Amino acid sequence: MSEIKAAKGTRDIFPPEIQKWQFLENAIHDYYKKFLYQEIRTPIFEHSELFSRGIGSETEVVQKEMYTFSDKSDRSLTLRPENTASVVRAAIENNLFETVAPLRFYYIGPMFRYDKPQKGRYRQFHQFGIEVFADDSPQVDAEVIFAAVDFLNKLRIADIRLELNSVGCPRCRPLYLEVLRKAARAEGGRLCADFRRKIEGNPLRIFDCKLPECAETTRDFPLLDGHLCAECRDHFAAVRETLSWMNVPFQLNPRLVRGLDYYTKTAFEVTSGQLGAQNALLGGGRYNNLIKELGGPDMAGIGFAAGMERIILHLENPALPKIKNLFVAYGEQKWLAHAIQLAEVLRAEGYPVYLDFQGKNLKKQFKKADKIAAAFTLILAEDEIASKSVSIKNMASQEQKKIPLKDLNERLKKNY
Ligand code: AMP
Repeated sequence: MSEIKAAKGTRDIFPPEIQKWQFLENAIHDYYKKFLYQEIRTPIFEHSELFSRGIGSETEVVQKEMYTFSDKSDRSLTLRPENTASVVRAAIENNLFETVAPLRFYYIGPMFRYDKPQKGRYRQFHQFGIEVFADDSPQVDAEVIFAAVDFLNKLRIADIRLELNSVGCPRCRPLYLEVLRKAARAEGGRLCADFRRKIEGNPLRIFDCKLPECAETTRDFPLLDGHLCAECRDHFAAVRETLSWMNVPFQLNPRLVRGLDYYTKTAFEVTSGQLGAQNALLGGGRYNNLIKELGGPDMAGIGFAAGMERIILHLENPALPKIKNLFVAYGEQKWLAHAIQLAEVLRAEGYPVYLDFQGKNLKKQFKKADKIAAAFTLILAEDEIASKSVSIKNMASQEQKKIPLKDLNERLKKNY
């Protein structure tokens, strides 16, 4: 039979790399709880409309990258390409705005995009992220950004760079977009076909194009920073000031527009100098219209999403406490019941215990004990059973001693 391989753009995660994932997940739980974020878990698939309305029908993600399918009742469903729209949907549907305080959520989980796979870019990838609702203050923008950068610093991720921009609001952005359209129409012939199409829809996307011709053409295009309204300008100035109080270094990038349509005011991205082409570690920003757009109250929101695969690429294998495995060996099949019961008691005490059901004889079981790197092997044979004792063998020193069963826990605790 031919071998079945994992689907393109997906990957298996197994030891020893899985240790990094568990370490990262634990770090996320510990860190974000310090800011009173609470975990939220939303479904992997949603009605497709959530993403076309929430992310924006003009975006790359919605136009090209969604895993959309019809279920047996002909509903259009989509594997979530990101989690913010789902968190907002869940908050509206479950009225979390009234029942949860503060309105701060974090999530961890797989996302799906039909992207071109390469190192650091997958079709099933993982993000963690945070969302804050109902707080429009620029200081919370700075705190969210701090909580992104400081977390990466705590993980000792070197060579990171924070870029910051304001993408305006529904009051100032449309006026600017007209100015930009004008410039883009004049140079249309020099932009790639993809971006010529975007001039009328969302011309901000023009700044996303990585093609050198487009970058060159747009170099002198008018930028949004000169067209912000007074409110957006003041908000952005306060974000920058608060970041300076927090000692968070940043670089202004007036071309930073982010891939998703729902951002207003603050937008930011953290990149790594060590990741090559896929250098974005996380991105986020404020989305003051999304909640209303998805049928909820007129309420502000801000958050970010971080790519876990890319963070994992930077992580050293964490120094985990050495786990001392125990191995319970039994001299003959007839002592198996005793061995099973001893393993049960030891696990209840908190020890990791392995019992080899294929062990034909003690010699073979000892070999297995070596293979699983057991620290101690506990042996039950005729003698031990008769005297209610157990022989304990230190696998490193090969020393072996018979002790009363009742003293075993005490003894292990001392040596553990
Ligand atoms: P976005 O939701 O597009 O703002 O992405 C946020 C972060 O998710 C990025 O900075 C990346 O670190 C990560 N990311 C996005 N797309 C992918 C992908 N296809 N594979 C791996 N990581 C990704």
